[in-house]
Amino acid sequence: MRKLVVGNWKMHGGLDANAALLGALYAAGRQACPFAVCVPFPYLQQAQALLGSSSVAWGAQDLSEHASGAYTGEVSGAMLKDFACRYVIVGHSERRALFGDTDERVAAKVGAAISVKLQPILCVGETLGEREAGVTEAVVERQLAAVFARCGAEALAACVIAYEPVWAIGTGKTASPEQAQAVHAFIRARLSAWCGEDVAAAMTILYGGSVKPQNAAELFAQADIDGGLIGGASLVAGDFLAIVAAAAS
Ligand code: PEP
Repeated sequence: MRKLVVGNWKMHGGLDANAALLGALYAAGRQACPFAVCVPFPYLQQAQALLGSSSVAWGAQDLSEHASGAYTGEVSGAMLKDFACRYVIVGHSERRALFGDTDERVAAKVGAAISVKLQPILCVGETLGEREAGVTEAVVERQLAAVFARCGAEALAACVIAYEPVWAIGTGKTASPEQAQAVHAFIRARLSAWCGEDVAAAMTILYGGSVKPQNAAELFAQADIDGGLIGGASLVAGDFLAIVAAAAS
């Protein structure tokens, strides 16, 4: 089984609200589809404490490309490992657009994650302008190629890939299942060329962008969509678990 659902809490949460949400995920127990939550850095210890004895995994939303040093405000991969993170989101479109994460820096962050055995969730995706200009595939290929060029095929193959059209993130606009599937198939074909067909076939390619309980099943039914990276809906336990259930069916 290669399906996976990951919540991205973004900069939301607080100790009390998190305890309720994590408690509900814990209480849901093992689901047919594995799932995880990527929480803000200060709450990693809380996630570890409340989920540690469950099958739910957790992770962070970013990491430094550096291993240690005079980088005020940064958090290293080794620090994330101290809190038993399994995953780290890398190259989310909000970090690319707002915090200067270039393709090269994203590739360096993937390398930093792999070097401490964190599994990167590598986000790629086009803006609305790029889609309208007909360059969706070129953009996604460029974003993936930067990681392949810097880190190599083995590191790329160790990533979970998340296709997140920027125009669908937090906007309520979802790519249609057909639109998403077309890009996922393209991504798998590129991964196949770089990493080999069998490896690419086994890789997990998530879709992200306004996934909700109402649209999850149709998206996840597509041949190359292996689950979801869920923003807003991951903050509501019932919605998130319904999406997990949709991935399992
Ligand atoms: C995301 O932030 O990765 C995301 C997909 O957000 P949303 O589900 O809210 O569109």
